[in-house]
Amino acid sequence: MRIVLLGPPGAGKGTQAKQLARKLGLPHISTGDILRQNVAGDTFLGKEARDYMNKGLLVPDELVTKMLSERFKQPDVKNGFILDGYPRNLSQAKVLDGILARMKMKIGLVFDLDCSEPVIIQRLSGRLVCRKCGANFHKTNMPPKKENVCDNCGGELYQRPDDNVETIKKRLAVYKNEVSVLIKYYEDNGLLLRVNSGGRAEVVLEEMVRLVSTKK
Ligand code: AMP
Repeated sequence: MRIVLLGPPGAGKGTQAKQLARKLGLPHISTGDILRQNVAGDTFLGKEARDYMNKGLLVPDELVTKMLSERFKQPDVKNGFILDGYPRNLSQAKVLDGILARMKMKIGLVFDLDCSEPVIIQRLSGRLVCRKCGANFHKTNMPPKKENVCDNCGGELYQRPDDNVETIKKRLAVYKNEVSVLIKYYEDNGLLLRVNSGGRAEVVLEEMVRLVSTKK
């Protein structure tokens, strides 16, 4: 199954994508994660992307699209994938269709995760991420057992530089500006399923797994 996750930052795309990927035995492809790895590694792509990311703006399409095309050359995508963070606009959606068409593939399902703005701001401004394994924690909702240490792997927890209230608001504005055409595109293609992701992560995941099974 080839699944795309849409939704504002903080709607839980990353969390749900990781869990869903594990449940379905599919690779989780997050363009944000790949970009952050490039920033951390100070690669050419990372140097180009850093400023846009820190300001809450989209990284130019051609950079992200090239990066994604490279990722799709890896053999693990042949049975499906969970794509999180791409597409972010209509032009990326069309690029994605093109990449998949060349591989004789099609998207099977698009989830639109929906969540209220106060919940998003509370989630993101308290989010902590493990530098080593990428696991997410939250200062108050899900604190690690030991301060700033990942429960899973012992890695250091950090706050993403774009998870401050000002940049979160900018990211939400960028999202709102692009999303309606994107949603309509997938709705017109009969692929879109809406999920309220304001509740507990396990409940949201259960609903998504149920919806995937209706599409099989
Ligand atoms: P995310 O981890 O999905 O919240 O993405 C973090 C940041 O990475 C975004 O605010 C953008 O700056 C950048 N980014 C991730 N995916 C894309 C994309 N598909 N197109 C452009 N920029 C992206």
